[in-house]
Amino acid sequence: MALFSKKDKYIRITPNRTQKKQAKPVVPDELFSKCPACKHTIYQKDLGSERICPHCNYTFRISAQERLDLTVEPNSFVEMFTGIETKDPLKFPDYRKKLAQIRQETGLDEAVITGTALIKGEKVALGIMDSNFIMASMGTVVGEKITRLFEFATLEGLPVVLFTASGGARMQEGIMSLMQMAKVSAAVKRHSMAGLFYLTILTDPTTGGVTASFAMEGDIILAEPQSLVGFAGRRVIENTVREDLPEDFQKAEFLLEHGFVDAIVRRRELPDMISRLVRLHGRNHR
Ligand SMILES: [Zn+2]
Repeated sequence: MALFSKKDKYIRITPNRTQKKQAKPVVPDELFSKCPACKHTIYQKDLGSERICPHCNYTFRISAQERLDLTVEPNSFVEMFTGIETKDPLKFPDYRKKLAQIRQETGLDEAVITGTALIKGEKVALGIMDSNFIMASMGTVVGEKITRLFEFATLEGLPVVLFTASGGARMQEGIMSLMQMAKVSAAVKRHSMAGLFYLTILTDPTTGGVTASFAMEGDIILAEPQSLVGFAGRRVIENTVREDLPEDFQKAEFLLEHGFVDAIVRRRELPDMISRLVRLHGRNHR
């Protein structure tokens, strides 16, 4: 069974996303925001363009477009693998309608954007998940786009840099979503066997099947401060093990302490860190 169909109306060639306008601003225009981590009320201006809480360093969620603007060299992003559409394998009620509406609202065609870009002079295959799109849940299209990104990077000898954010598998696509874990992992493995570098940056929130597969398969795993990273939800675990969990359980800092994350890096320092790591692990240095 073919999982995808291509429809002309969804094929978009966007060599320069940085000039694309989103249909709806993802960051609300209100004057104040409440920090989900420390609960302080913060004047919007004080968050700055990086959107970091001045009290606890929590990094607010940003859209894929904002991430691009903060991370890659201007006009260097070439978007690839657009125009893939799910075949809605379960014929889930209203799923296609919901997708059409979210596409309209976010200006994205799916929960991840993929392509190539320059980050401080280093060419990388880049994927950015966007939690504004059905909580960046992983359906067949997300899996396919990330798989193609790895296959392309393997052919071209490029490192892969992937910003993860996800609520987990996409319920509307049932077991087909879960299969993406194995599919992407196989592509990651082939990329690794070719001696190429894979860097993941875990952002708030990275959970479920994404954590249980490609988010944790990076050669180096970075995270943004205070990001929620986990598999099952906190309450599910507490009810299963019948124990109270530490306050910072499933926070990036807790994961760093327990060896699941290599470093926590502030948003403004990420481009430098990414380019340095890519350079150090490039083919010329092995
Ligand atoms: Zn805070």
